[in-house]
Amino acid sequence: MASDMTNDFDAIVVGSGISGGFAAKELTERGLKVLLLERGRNVTHRADYTTEGKGNWQLPYYGQIPEDVVESDYFVQKDCYAFSDFTKHFFVNDREHPYATPEDKPFPWIRGYHLGGRSLTWHRQSYRLSEMDFEANKLDGHGVDWPIRYSDLAPWYDHVETFAGISGSVVGLPQLPDGPFQPPFPMNCVELEMKDRIESALPGRHLIIGRTAHLTEPTEEQMSLGRGRCMNRSECQRGCSIGAYFSSLSATLPAANRTGNLTTVTDAIVESVIYDADGQRASGVRVVDANTKERRTYGGRTVFLCASTLATTQIMLNSRSERFPNGIANSSGTLGHYLMDHLGGVQAWGTFSGHEDKYESGRRATGCYIPRFRNVTDEDERFLRGYGYQGAAHRPSWARSRWAQGIGADFKAELRQPGSWEFGMGGFGEMLPAERNRVWLDDSETDQWGIPILNIDCEHGENDLAMLDAMAEDARELLEAAGLENIGVSKNPTPPGLLIHEMGTARMGHDPATSVLNKYNQAHDVPNLFVTDGACMTSSACQNPSLTYMALTARASAAAVDMLKEGAI
Ligand SMILES: Cc1cc2nc3c(=O)[nH]c(=O)nc-3n(C[C@H](O)[C@H](O)[C@H](O)COP(=O)(O)OP(=O)(O)OC[C@H]3O[C@@H](n4cnc5c(N)ncnc54)[C@H](O)[C@@H]3O)c2cc1C
Repeated sequence: MASDMTNDFDAIVVGSGISGGFAAKELTERGLKVLLLERGRNVTHRADYTTEGKGNWQLPYYGQIPEDVVESDYFVQKDCYAFSDFTKHFFVNDREHPYATPEDKPFPWIRGYHLGGRSLTWHRQSYRLSEMDFEANKLDGHGVDWPIRYSDLAPWYDHVETFAGISGSVVGLPQLPDGPFQPPFPMNCVELEMKDRIESALPGRHLIIGRTAHLTEPTEEQMSLGRGRCMNRSECQRGCSIGAYFSSLSATLPAANRTGNLTTVTDAIVESVIYDADGQRASGVRVVDANTKERRTYGGRTVFLCASTLATTQIMLNSRSERFPNGIANSSGTLGHYLMDHLGGVQAWGTFSGHEDKYESGRRATGCYIPRFRNVTDEDERFLRGYGYQGAAHRPSWARSRWAQGIGADFKAELRQPGSWEFGMGGFGEMLPAERNRVWLDDSETDQWGIPILNIDCEHGENDLAMLDAMAEDARELLEAAGLENIGVSKNPTPPGLLIHEMGTARMGHDPATSVLNKYNQAHDVPNLFVTDGACMTSSACQNPSLTYMALTARASAAAVDMLKEGAI
């Protein structure tokens, strides 16, 4: 095995997505020499957004993907709503990246293996967790207690929101703390009227504009990184040359690069962390070259695992030594357990009479949000925790001819006018942490790089599914209160994984006997090993989680640098 154990690096960061990008930025800005290892190919901001600004007619199959290609190469990724011919180069080829699930428990593992990871394809919805979320496990006894509280993370939310640029409105809800937002995108006339009706008919429930990682009023710092104001093109998942939405390529990696402290190596698959039994610390990582399959090692004084929830846990489980036969930092035996994803599958819609003389002004980079109210202002004894909704009102154009029924001159004449206003929404529910939801390494099957594949066994539990009924009932009640007509509600629980908020499996906690990481995302067992992606999550709350990964990463990075300076690790 080739060795590059130069120990020149103060920190090795594994993965360049939302959390790895932030770790690279925070650590380099604090003076550390950082090696960033990314398993996928290089993606150059702007130059490699190859479908940006293109029309359907400029793609070989008018934006569609031949069925045989989907079935052979994208049989999992195809279920992601953002997967299309415009974006498929930012999703993994499922044939090349196998994993296993029980046949009756699918877990769509939606991934992007390239520089920037899923920071290129995410939907950018950015919400803080609240005090209630950090206390929940302790109060109702599910999972272990978070070793931090909202007040520990609040300054770090401020820090990452200011850097990333989150647009939103200040509403003063304790269950959804505000931040230093950039100006919100406007709500349209129907959303504003629905907001008034819902908030007066159902006190405690709110319809607000979605908080999203888009620049509406770029700061000097953001402009100095080459980022500009969002133009509402709403083609974000193809990549944005304006750098208007937050991604590793538009924001954190340029910030890290300009310090002169960052070395990035792509096509470098980290297979395991090297454990030095004498020093009782991580001394580096083993890497397989994605193209040549050659193996080599890199040394570093600290290791940050940010490869995304399941990839990080796969690396940890595969880091076996005499001291840690079941995976590094796994003396508790909890590594791989307590996998969570948000619960979805409730959709609701209806039509709105009025405002027929108005139309939407262009596109918009976000929708609306209905923050959690169940077991906040409205108790429901059928289940613990709660859910929020995301949705938007819009007025269909002539393009509704694709699904509207009709034929002939009258139909054509009707299509000259916009359709009626419609509102659609979907729920996102909290999933309780449960030990039985777990991942482990296969003992016989490996991938083409010789790395044991991951087995995933995860299902929603009783509490989660009870929540789904209430989510559907509440959706109807909200739309009725808003005065909508032709209301429809559907309920088809999504399999865990499909909401793409997979988290847990190397949870934080007070006690080394029941958790993997301490309050600084530092492995209880290996003090110079940090895990700051979704693997660290102790509970899922119901808010989109990536902003929390950023805040935890920034906090852990600052703590690690202090510990290095003090010689504590
Ligand atoms: C379509 C879509 C919409 C989404 N919408 C939202 C949203 O609105 N709000 C929200 O909060 N979240 C959203 N998410 C989820 C969000 O993208 C993830 O939570 C976030 O990207 C996780 O960050 P991460 O750094 O942990 O992982 P990633 O961003 O996935 O990055 C991980 C990186 O690690 C690399 N890697 C993996 N394994 C290895 C290895 N062995 N060695 C080296 N490198 C490795 C990968 O190639 C990748 O680049 C969405 C995701 C998708 C796909």
